[in-house]
Amino acid sequence: MSAPPTTDVLIVGSGVIGLSLAWELAQRGLRVRVLESGQVGRATSWAGAGILPPAAKYGANDAYDQLKSLSHALHPDWAARLQEETGIDTGFQKCGGLYLARTRAEAATLVASQFWWQEHGIEFHRWSPEELMRHEPALAALVPQLKSAWFLPEEYQLRNPRHLKALAAACSLAGVELIEETPVDEVLIGPSGVASLRAGDEVFQADQLCLCSGPWARMTLEQMGISTGMMPVRGQIVMYRCQTPPISRVVNEGNRYLVARSDGRILAGSIEEEVGFRIETTSEGIRQIRDWAEGVLPLLQQTPVEKSWAGLRPGSFDGWPYMGKIGTTENLFVAAGHYRAGIHLSCGTAVLMADLMLGHPTSIDLNPFRPGRG
Ligand SMILES: Cc1cc2nc3c(=O)[nH]c(=O)nc-3n(C[C@H](O)[C@H](O)[C@H](O)COP(=O)(O)OP(=O)(O)OC[C@H]3O[C@@H](n4cnc5c(N)ncnc54)[C@H](O)[C@@H]3O)c2cc1C
Repeated sequence: MSAPPTTDVLIVGSGVIGLSLAWELAQRGLRVRVLESGQVGRATSWAGAGILPPAAKYGANDAYDQLKSLSHALHPDWAARLQEETGIDTGFQKCGGLYLARTRAEAATLVASQFWWQEHGIEFHRWSPEELMRHEPALAALVPQLKSAWFLPEEYQLRNPRHLKALAAACSLAGVELIEETPVDEVLIGPSGVASLRAGDEVFQADQLCLCSGPWARMTLEQMGISTGMMPVRGQIVMYRCQTPPISRVVNEGNRYLVARSDGRILAGSIEEEVGFRIETTSEGIRQIRDWAEGVLPLLQQTPVEKSWAGLRPGSFDGWPYMGKIGTTENLFVAAGHYRAGIHLSCGTAVLMADLMLGHPTSIDLNPFRPGRG
C-alpha cells in the first residue's frame, strides 16, 4: 500500500457539510484534504431546495435550535464572503417565506407555530386573503380554500449548485486539496486508537479525520462496529421554467414547498421515502409533487418542466445530526445526518466542528449530537 503526503485534516465527503468544514479549517490555517467518492458537491447537497427557514433570535433552549440559530445568523456573511472571494453569486436572497393552510388541522399547526415564533423573536405577519392577493397575485386560485396565511420575512434561500461551486472554489483558493473519484473503503485503527483511511490501495493519514459522507457514513461506522439510526430518506424535486418569476417568496404548505429562483425557475418539492440508497425519481413521486404544485400555482399547468431529480437526505432516528468524536478513537470525528436541513445547518456545523477538532470550547454543547446516542 502507498501513502500520500500527510495533512493536518482529512475529510471524507464533499457535500455542503464536508466543504463548509474544509473551508472553515483552512481559514484557520490548517492543511486540509477532502476525499470524495464521486464528483465534488454532486450528491444530496446539490439536490436540495436551498430553503433557510427563520430561526430563533433568542430563547433557543435545545441544542438543535441553537445550532439552527447559529447557522441562520452566519449564512448572510458566508454568502457575502463566498461572493467576494470567488466571484460566484450563490443566489442567497432574503426572500421571505409564506406559510399557507388549506385545512383546519394545518391552520391550527400554524397558530401553534405563531406562539413559538413570538417566544423566539421571529418576525411574522398574518396575511388576509386580500394581502396575499396583493403581494402574490399568482396564488389567487388558493384564496377560496385558504384557512390562513402567514408571512415570515426572515426566511432565506440560496441556489445549491452555485453555493457548492462557490464553496469548492473558496476551498481551493484556501489551499484545500479536493480529491475526486476516491471512495474511502475503510477506517483503519492503530493500536493507540489513531485512525487512518484506506481508499483502494492508498492509506491516508492526518492528525484529525472527519466523516462528512452524509447517509453513507452509516456504512463506514457499521464497519467499525458502531450502529447508528442513520438512514437515507429520498426526496424528489420538479423544476419548472417560467419566463419571469411568478412568485417572489418561498411558499410552504406542510412539508411541500415552491421556491422561485430569480431567473424564473421554480422548484417544487418534496416527498419523503424510505427506499434505501435508490436515488432515481419515480413517476408516482413526480406526479404527487406536480399535482400539489399545479394546484397551488395553476400557471405551472402550462409551464414546461425543465428537469426533475431525487436526492437522499441523511436521516437519523431522532432527526438530529451526528456531530462529535467517535468514541474509541483518538482522532476520528463525524458530522453527518443533517436530514432535511443540512444546507441550513452547514455554516454552524462547520464552526462548531472546527472548534471541537482543534480542542477549543464550542459555543453550543455538542453532547446531544454525540454519535452512538439513543
Ligand atoms: C429533495 C431535497 C430537498 C432538500 N431541501 C433542503 C432545504 O431546502 N434546506 C436544507 O437546509 N436542506 C435541504 N435538504 C437536505 C440537505 O440537502 C442535506 O441535509 C445535506 O445536503 C446533507 O449534506 P451532506 O454534506 O451531509 O451530504 P451529501 O451532500 O450527500 O455529501 C456527502 C458526500 O460524501 C460522499 N461520500 C459518500 N461516501 C463516501 C466514501 N466512502 N468516500 C468518499 N466520499 C464519500 C458522497 O459522494 C457525497 O458527495 C434537502 C434534501 C433533499 C434530498
